[in-house]
Amino acid sequence: MSPDLVRFAYLVAASLFVFGLKGLSHPRTAVRGNRLSALGMFIAIVVTLIDQQIVRFEFIVAGIVLGGAIGAIWALKVPMTAMPQFVGLCNGFGGGASVLVAGAAYVEAALRSADTISMQFGIATMASGLIGGVTFWGSLIAFGKLQGIVSEKAVRFTGDHVLKGLFLLAALAAGVLVILQPENTLYFWIMVAIASVLGILLVVPIGGADMPVVIALLNSYSGMAAAATGFVLSNNVLIISGSLVGASGFILTSIMCKAMNRSLANVMFAGVGGDSGGDDAGPADDLYEGKVKSTTAEEVAMVLDSARRVVFVPGYGMAVAQAQHAVRDLANKLEADGIEVEFAIHPVAGRMPGHMNVLLAEADVPYDRLKEMDEANTGFEQTDVTIVIGANDVVNPLARDAADTPLTGMPILNVDKSRTVVVIKRSLSPGFAGIPNPLFAADNCLMLFADGKDAVQELTAAVNEI
Ligand code: NDP
Repeated sequence: MSPDLVRFAYLVAASLFVFGLKGLSHPRTAVRGNRLSALGMFIAIVVTLIDQQIVRFEFIVAGIVLGGAIGAIWALKVPMTAMPQFVGLCNGFGGGASVLVAGAAYVEAALRSADTISMQFGIATMASGLIGGVTFWGSLIAFGKLQGIVSEKAVRFTGDHVLKGLFLLAALAAGVLVILQPENTLYFWIMVAIASVLGILLVVPIGGADMPVVIALLNSYSGMAAAATGFVLSNNVLIISGSLVGASGFILTSIMCKAMNRSLANVMFAGVGGDSGGDDAGPADDLYEGKVKSTTAEEVAMVLDSARRVVFVPGYGMAVAQAQHAVRDLANKLEADGIEVEFAIHPVAGRMPGHMNVLLAEADVPYDRLKEMDEANTGFEQTDVTIVIGANDVVNPLARDAADTPLTGMPILNVDKSRTVVVIKRSLSPGFAGIPNPLFAADNCLMLFADGKDAVQELTAAVNEI
């Protein structure tokens, strides 16, 4: 295959990656975006296989069949709620693959003739091994935390930051030896081992509920490791695709941090959220005493009977209760009764970016009913009833009104501006941030204490009876 043709095919693949990423930025175009990226990857793989006879094709086919089968079966079986850890594990494998491929190329080059190893080759190998090692082990810990295999608490100990700093310095020192003494390939594996421990040390002190942010960051790392491996192999399409993953993962990380009003340093080093749902924190008696109004499904049905506009605000509890189908049924019933219905989506509702969009799409709620935060906030004052299902932090007015709380400054959905707010949750327990919510004690708020799915089903039954 002529080099020009290979370069042209890589250019086509890279363009498809870019258009694919653009498509992924909106739910409506996401499936097409995914297909375009997959087509780009297919072209890149086929051209690489035809162009470079690196290993025997039997091995490659065996790898594709085995890996493809495991990946396909797993992806089909994994429930939507386990998607963050599934993505996390895939990132980890990406990082691990970069280490092995760059390591193999480096060892091969060193055995052939260490003198001819260039500075660029050495630096790229070091970057791939270091970032890939951190990514692989960091991702395994993130997976373990979300899967309940490793404690999801933020495990901190005295001097942990110093220890991380020391491991980083040691990994960098070993990396410098990889560049300066390429004939001694052992330095590469020592560096990878140190980077692996660093990856574990970086993720263990972060609480389970912050794992989606960590996974987005590790996704960015896996892209950087792949791009570095692209330099090792002098493979342009790997450099481009790795850079795209690195950049998009980092942008996603910063979007998530911004939406939580937290810095990346705070997520990575402050050890917030050792308890995923803040279940240990008791109710804030002073705030709630004598002010919380408990309601029933029948009462809410009567309030809904005279409503003209209803907004649903889903949160993490809707995911836990798997209430999305029940919510869709209620929304359909209200619409059939002539009520205007919308869903207000906070960017960090739930525990992963787009969590609520994915659940509601699974339940076939039309995209045009979903309103992003800024748009949704313009409509609450004209809303008769807002139904909050398992959301807490993303509707907590303290974020807007109080000066010094973990949520202060985080943009929220201003549900308290609607005429009546119905909050469906099981108790007065706080959300992820672990602080009380004055919304529950507000004059216009009714609390429907129950599991999200049960409550919505009872509510639909009560509405049907009116
Ligand atoms: P929260 O974690 O603030 O609150 C969830 C609420 O759901 C809890 O108060 C809980 O109350 C309730 N709940 C739990 N199970 C059920 C159930 N079966 N039925 C009904 N209710 C239930 O969720 P939000 O979505 O409001 O906020 C997300 C939080 O997570 C934010 O603080 C955000 O910063 C953080 N976060 C989000 C990430 C993302 O990417 N989306 C990433 C990292 C962190 P009760 O126990 O009383 O039922």
